Amino acid sequence: MLHRKGLLELSALLDRKEISASEIARSYIDHVPAMNSRINAYITFEPDKLIASAEESDRRRSSGSALSKFDGIPVAIKDNINTEGTRTTCASKILENFVPPFNATVIEKLKAKGLLIAGKTNMDEFAMGSSTENSSFGPAKNPYNTERVPGGSSGGSAAAVSAFMAPAALGSDTGGSIRQPAAFCGVTGIKPTYGRVSRYGLVAYASSLDQIGTFGRSVDDAAALLEIIAGHDPLDSTSINCESDISASALNGSVKGIKVGVPAEYFNGIDIEIRSIIEKKIDALENLGAEIIPINLKYTQYAIPVYYLIATAEASSNLARYDGVRYGYRSPDTKDLSSLYLKSRSQGFGKEVKRRIIIGTFSLSSGYYDAYYVKALKGRTLIINDFKDAFSRVDAIISPVTTTTAFKIGQMSSDPLQMYMSDILTISANLAGIPGISVPAGLDSNGLPVGLQIMGNHFMEQKILEVAKTVESTCEKISPAI
Ligand code: GLN
Repeated sequence: MLHRKGLLELSALLDRKEISASEIARSYIDHVPAMNSRINAYITFEPDKLIASAEESDRRRSSGSALSKFDGIPVAIKDNINTEGTRTTCASKILENFVPPFNATVIEKLKAKGLLIAGKTNMDEFAMGSSTENSSFGPAKNPYNTERVPGGSSGGSAAAVSAFMAPAALGSDTGGSIRQPAAFCGVTGIKPTYGRVSRYGLVAYASSLDQIGTFGRSVDDAAALLEIIAGHDPLDSTSINCESDISASALNGSVKGIKVGVPAEYFNGIDIEIRSIIEKKIDALENLGAEIIPINLKYTQYAIPVYYLIATAEASSNLARYDGVRYGYRSPDTKDLSSLYLKSRSQGFGKEVKRRIIIGTFSLSSGYYDAYYVKALKGRTLIINDFKDAFSRVDAIISPVTTTTAFKIGQMSSDPLQMYMSDILTISANLAGIPGISVPAGLDSNGLPVGLQIMGNHFMEQKILEVAKTVESTCEKISPAI
């Protein structure tokens, strides 16, 4: 049953020499394949590599040269993070057989501390989506109800952690892709400040919004993993050169004197049960000494259109590199260079990715650039100013993560606009570059998890983790009946 233990629990057991890394690896190797046939959380799971790296870790530990207290613990990695020697598909046919020649910086950081790669997780193709249905490897399922989506785009990472297929995981969040699946799968997920974690080796979707973050079954686990991957990286020019103060062991779960803002706009159109669960948690925080302050984030309604112009514009440029020449899928029946481009891209990309490349190319084209792209940038500034204003008065902002709990597979796939709307509460944090965390707040009457979001000012991860830990302490622990 080692696979049911969290990151810090495993670390303590290893430290006391009660278990070995090989035993942990074997527990996952016994559990994952059968569970994956139901949940489809992993695209790539390589038992031989896992056991070999666990044995190496055991040798380090027995010779007294363990790399850290986490040496030997496997974590799941979203399949848009490059892993040397292990394929990195972005859940796309165009990268189906792409094996990167280098590791992302976050992978190097995990390896430097002796952590192991459990496997590569399912996602929406190129991180475009909110349900993990846009995967060319088939949809991932929600461990609480396999007829429902796990959320997206990091749905595989969230589902893997929820279904005990990994103690913790890495994901990426461009508009909510860590927080929304964390909420749907009943786990904790944090999107750090833009620039806090290196994006080097993360396959780019929308570069001004993308950020790598972590999932855990507890706030402490998500924080501990974030502590390992945070920090400056000269290989990423947008990485911020400042000391990270993120510390899982310094969290004490106290909110005394913390000013918590509650934005009215984030409670419009919310499922009634979600609303009442979140409101109860706000009351609980007040009872524990937080000061609750009603606030407004008045430009929230612009977040979706602004995001879908900026993200698609950046994506259309980032995805130009998949041309069938340099790497990835190449169409076999082409007669000249332009048909090679055309056919490789037409056959290699899925429908949603093509839709976004077309929208992005359109909004950047001459004649439309000012009307769409530049206008979206102005809208982004208004949203940034909203947060600046709010954080001059409060330390943290609380809201629901999603307007509904996990929806049914297929329910929204024919209506992209409705799917886009499902990110309404998470996208603004990416536009402003601020950190956000989703922490489980309870279950609705269908037994589906409800997430609570806490946003903080730039580099205030430690503060929002503290609030999250307090929320966690007021909740009964939830886990899926699988
Ligand atoms: N759901 C949003 C989108 O489809 C956000 C995705 C993400 O954060 N990667 O773009």
